[in-house]
Amino acid sequence: MPRGCLFCELAADRTRTPHRIAESPRAIALLSVDPASRGHTVIFPRRHFSDLSTIPETEWLAIGRLTLRVVEQLRRSLGHRGEYIYCGSWTRPDRKYPHLHVHVIPRGRRLARGFDPWWHPPPEGAASIPELAALAERIRLSPRSARRR
Ligand SMILES: [Zn+2]
Repeated sequence: MPRGCLFCELAADRTRTPHRIAESPRAIALLSVDPASRGHTVIFPRRHFSDLSTIPETEWLAIGRLTLRVVEQLRRSLGHRGEYIYCGSWTRPDRKYPHLHVHVIPRGRRLARGFDPWWHPPPEGAASIPELAALAERIRLSPRSARRR
């Protein structure tokens, strides 16, 4: 684990992630603390990778499987009909968040016309962990569809 990588720290310490909505043996899905829309989720591998060119295929497929599960959970529990999916990948290690991750951003009225991937924090400020934990519980408790396991 690279020193100071927030995603590695969150993967290692479950007590810091009450806003976790799903997980698998290889990947974790957390509600974003800086959401572009309600339900904005960040999915990342438990192991540290910074670039798509170095991630093993099994790790990337695990992220993809969890992304599909998260999309289904979010649509069922929040009722939106679409989402933007965005992945940041880079080779330079000096970025603020060097851990490869995928954003699932539910499309709503606010984002109906388009999504700027360089979003800024919402005017009301970043979401609090207790607020996100309550929303995460609602999403986790939403009954599963029989379509995908
Ligand atoms: Zn990391």
